[in-house]
Amino acid sequence: MATTILIVEDEEKIGRFLELELRHEGYQVLKAANGREGLEKAQSGQADLMVLDVMLPELNGFEVLRRLRKNSDIPVILLTARDAVMDKVAGLDGGADDYMTKPFAIEELLARIRLILKKRSGSISSDKNLLTCGELTMDVKRYEVHYGAELVELTHREFELLRVLLENKNIVVSRDTLLEKVCGYDYMGETNIIDVYVRYLRSKLDNVYHIKLIQTVRGVGYCIKDDVK
Ligand code: CA
Repeated sequence: MATTILIVEDEEKIGRFLELELRHEGYQVLKAANGREGLEKAQSGQADLMVLDVMLPELNGFEVLRRLRKNSDIPVILLTARDAVMDKVAGLDGGADDYMTKPFAIEELLARIRLILKKRSGSISSDKNLLTCGELTMDVKRYEVHYGAELVELTHREFELLRVLLENKNIVVSRDTLLEKVCGYDYMGETNIIDVYVRYLRSKLDNVYHIKLIQTVRGVGYCIKDDVK
């Protein structure tokens, strides 16, 4: 049975674009153009995942999410406006599984959808505290990274950067997303800071263990792949 994605978006152009892209990927698509309709369709149980715009007529995305979470755990990816800083925090607090900031790259949204569905289907280890790639192990709870048996000392931001990349293994994560998740949404400093931390990580991992852990995807961002060499 095909996986069904519910798109709740009042901007027709974006809604249509998403529908085409998702159908192209083999998903079935349900659409709703306002919050009330979106909530009803989500509660109907026909969809496996919901892409939910925050700025919606009738009920906004947060209100939809709040009401939905009383009786449904359908995965939700929120679409927020670029400058709506509080949206992201409120969205994740409100029970969203992930969020994308508009405008976003469709490839990134598709990758996140795949990841969330994969997690739901249980094909990713349920031990969320342990992230691995090859010989590398990150124990999120203990805040420790090992390569083989050796402890790797990382700073807080190096750790967070590595964590985001490991959590999104095999997915290219954009610099913007990394910046937000590692430095916080209110970060005002140098925009190349992510590149700097990637260099630090490479000097502590790649150079020491002779691997090529973090791949640069030119013009987009970074990625850690399963087949680390
Ligand atoms: Ca909207």
